[in-house]
Amino acid sequence: MTNITKLEPRKAFLRNICDPDTREVIDKGLCLWFPGPNSFTGEDSVEFQIHGGSAVIAAVSAALSKLKFAHALPGEFTRRAFYNNKLDLTEIEGLADLIHAETELQRKQAYLQVDGSLSKLYNKWRKTLLQSIAHVEAYIDFSEDDNIEADIMDKCNNVLKVLNQEIKRHLSDGRKGEILREGVRTVILGEPNVGKSSLLNYLVQREAAIVTPIPGTTRDIVELNLNIFDYPVILADTAGLRKETTDIVEIEGIHRAKNYTKGADFVILLANSVSYLRSKKKYDEFIIDYVERLGLNDLLLNNGKVMDHCIVVMNKIDLLEPQERDSLLKDDRTIFISCAREEGLQKFSKRVAIHLKNLCGNPCRENPTVSQTRHRIHLTNCSEHIDNYFDLIKSEERDIVLAAQEIRNAMRELGLITGYVSVEQILDVIFKDFCIGK
Ligand code: GDP
Ligand code: ZN
Repeated sequence: MTNITKLEPRKAFLRNICDPDTREVIDKGLCLWFPGPNSFTGEDSVEFQIHGGSAVIAAVSAALSKLKFAHALPGEFTRRAFYNNKLDLTEIEGLADLIHAETELQRKQAYLQVDGSLSKLYNKWRKTLLQSIAHVEAYIDFSEDDNIEADIMDKCNNVLKVLNQEIKRHLSDGRKGEILREGVRTVILGEPNVGKSSLLNYLVQREAAIVTPIPGTTRDIVELNLNIFDYPVILADTAGLRKETTDIVEIEGIHRAKNYTKGADFVILLANSVSYLRSKKKYDEFIIDYVERLGLNDLLLNNGKVMDHCIVVMNKIDLLEPQERDSLLKDDRTIFISCAREEGLQKFSKRVAIHLKNLCGNPCRENPTVSQTRHRIHLTNCSEHIDNYFDLIKSEERDIVLAAQEIRNAMRELGLITGYVSVEQILDVIFKDFCIGK
């Protein structure tokens, strides 16, 4: 048997794979030798490409165990890659997201993260903090010394101020990256029988929710994962909202629908175009009444308009007289559709696409967005520590030692995101930036 470590690295060789005891050939396959550190884990690795049948795999595994190889635990390769500094935590999280990505934009965001987009940004910020702390510490230790410039603190404070603004800007991204990663929680709301399930079926393009003419059919929440224009959408059809019901199951359904709406990223409010027209009310007035009747006042802004993450759609225009329809269709504050005749649905889809784009953004390398809550928490803490630093140096006591600790804390928060927490390097920077060789 060939000694694999004698093979030319990173090249495929077709070889017989034998049992180490009996020398019986188990399979013929490709062998690749990756000596560390140039491997995924950073350690010496061997890859076998064998035939995929379960008996072949079992026999090769058994042969390998005779050579004292063990099965990897879940995530073990990635964990080793992390310990060997091949990947940091954000890249590992990106890898997990890439594996789970269901839409093209999710894949794009995850790939950029695996490729180090966040890692690069957070490490850059961490380095800035590292330099600042080095400067502040030098100031503390040697401020009586002439060769430490007097304005060193000013320079350092400017750098920190800019950095903090950058972090705050990064945080106020409307949670785009997180929404893209988790899926846009979308809910269709409206009175019973208005066509919510029909609209959902149109979006899903299959009969996913029950469509019946009996009011109150959709009692629980039907949740579906959809890919709409490459945006991941978690679409919920809810119980028709009405106040006058006494059915306990329906009341519970309504309760759930309202709760669900509170956490929704995007709301489609469906009304009946016939009711609107026959009500003779002005548009705004009709919407306010409708929203209040459904008990959805949370959706209204102070000026009586619906919130930005909500679109109003009016269904059943096929039931209107032609001249009634023509008068309505001129109004572009709302979208008129007929689920039954599939009218206006393309316009509706376009409007949905615009909202999804606003909610998820477009992942790009130059300006990566926060992709998960864990990062958001550490980034928020980081920014707060920088705020604390400024509070401390501005206060009357002007406790620089305590203030310096805040920068260290801020740095630690970034280190917690990337999984890179170490103090040794602070010393390196001090000696690199300052030639304190006396
Ligand atoms: P939901 O209770 O809001 O979910 O409403 P459904 O989607 O179950 O629809 C209730 C009834 O209205 C069903 O009989 C549908 O066929 C009907 N319906 C839905 N959309 C339209 C439409 O655009 N025009 C007409 N005429 N009927 C519709
Ligand atoms: Zn329904």
